Amino acid sequence: MAAFKRLVIVGGGSSGWMAAAAAATTLRGVEVTVVESEEIGIIGVGEAAFPSIRAFNELLRISEADFLRATRGSFKLGIQFRDWLHPGHSYFHTFGDFFPMEGSMALWGQYRRQRESVDWHFDELNIASLMARQGRFAVPQVPPGQEAPFNYAYHFDAQLYAAYLRRLAEQRGARRVEGRIVEVLRRPDGGVAQLRLADGRLVEGDFYLDCSGFSSLLIGKALGVPFVDESQWLPVDRAWAVPVQRMPGELTPYTRSTALEGGWSWRIPLQDRTGYGHVFSSHFIGEERAREQLLAQVDGEPLAEPRLLRFTTGYRQTHWLHNVAAVGLAGGFLEPLESTAIYLVQATLARVMPLLDAATPPTPAAVEGFNNVQLRQYQRIRDFIVLHYCLTQRRDSALWRHMAEMKLPDSLAYKIRAWRQLGMLVVYDHEGFDANSWLSIHAGMDHWPEHQSPWLDEVPPSFAMHYMQSRRNAIAETVQRVPPHDEFLRRYLG
Ligand SMILES: Cc1cc2nc3c(=O)[nH]c(=O)nc-3n(C[C@H](O)[C@H](O)[C@H](O)COP(=O)(O)OP(=O)(O)OC[C@H]3O[C@@H](n4cnc5c(N)ncnc54)[C@H](O)[C@@H]3O)c2cc1C
Repeated sequence: MAAFKRLVIVGGGSSGWMAAAAAATTLRGVEVTVVESEEIGIIGVGEAAFPSIRAFNELLRISEADFLRATRGSFKLGIQFRDWLHPGHSYFHTFGDFFPMEGSMALWGQYRRQRESVDWHFDELNIASLMARQGRFAVPQVPPGQEAPFNYAYHFDAQLYAAYLRRLAEQRGARRVEGRIVEVLRRPDGGVAQLRLADGRLVEGDFYLDCSGFSSLLIGKALGVPFVDESQWLPVDRAWAVPVQRMPGELTPYTRSTALEGGWSWRIPLQDRTGYGHVFSSHFIGEERAREQLLAQVDGEPLAEPRLLRFTTGYRQTHWLHNVAAVGLAGGFLEPLESTAIYLVQATLARVMPLLDAATPPTPAAVEGFNNVQLRQYQRIRDFIVLHYCLTQRRDSALWRHMAEMKLPDSLAYKIRAWRQLGMLVVYDHEGFDANSWLSIHAGMDHWPEHQSPWLDEVPPSFAMHYMQSRRNAIAETVQRVPPHDEFLRRYLG
């Protein structure tokens, strides 16, 4: 039996209902209550996910087709980055491998040396990137015991996702309380005792998950945990978001991110509409100009007026304090470039749930360990996102000049030095992104080591080129047999 018998989840956005569904499915003997306020609403713009969402859905015993039907979703192989290196340039960061990583660097080195005489793009060595480029998708059929040739995630309607998880959590016993929290009553030890709602009702738990979004009602406002502001490295602080009617034709199996004057825009294809947004820094571009630039990007009729969202990039210094843990935007937000917010919700839940399931409350050391891992993961993901910006060759606007010239966090500066000087990809634990992802960004941004290891010469160029050519041919042949994404999705959903 779990030590905390009554779990109260504050907030019913994606993070609140993900937490409730996970708790109702996995915790034994725990009463789960979600408090949310329709009057306040949810942020509802997280529409692109990370492959780990599949493991989360599996844990909740959610069928893939059912999930995609309910959320009007589509498949996502990765992200296309347009104009990030310079206008007119594009590359993919997909969830596929380039090579088995062992020995890969030698092959990359030879590719780079012979680039002038090679008339094909390195994307062709990655099955997911080639499928994305050709607008194709099929769920990989993997014999038991073998690894899939690529990974994938989804695009979905975030409002429908929260509603879907709510139904599921309620079916599994979670209780929903509608109401606006106006006061947080404290225990003598500083923890949270009760929540007072606007109509005077009191809600009481043994443990609280703060899923209250940017308002960070418990961990931030009530417990006063400081916010670590990361805007010196991630200066975007606003986003315009607009749904657009989907034009008939191709349904891209990837998110598109286009670099603009003061930020970047997203394009996320769903079954019957396309989500567009412009994430920008108000220090570098005005709101009105950013709105115009968003509307100039869209390829269909807007279905609503663009909505402006404001945020500060960063995270809470501590994510678990007394009897409260933060999940989702209440704990932090980096920015949506690599769709990591929902991933961070899941990663946090994966660490919190076992602690809540235990028969005794976690020791101070376990809580400290949890807090330490949370911080490190936010910082690792921050570094990965900053990498996309700082390698730019753009100097055509103040934002890009700033991003190219700013002093980097030490942890990222070290990784970049190791790559540039030695061709080494340094990957720490709790990264979120593996070596393939780091390589995708370096290679995509045409950022290569200055010195090659002497052992590159131990791989004869003809052997390396032959190996790559065979891999490229095999991938091209396989991808040719894969159907267009919209055709596959139609068939898959029946
Ligand atoms: C511009 C932008 C783009 C994004 N794109 C992506 C993306 O592509 N992929 C991705 O993974 N993530 C993305 N995100 C993040 C994603 O939207 C969130 O991580 C996700 O929706 C979880 O939000 P949340 O549940 O933490 O907060 P919210 O959705 O804000 O929910 C907060 C909840 O708390 C409740 N609440 C607040 N105060 C009170 C109160 N006083 N009383 C009662 N209830 C209260 C609200 O009613 C609501 O139910 C994006 C975010 C932004 C800003």
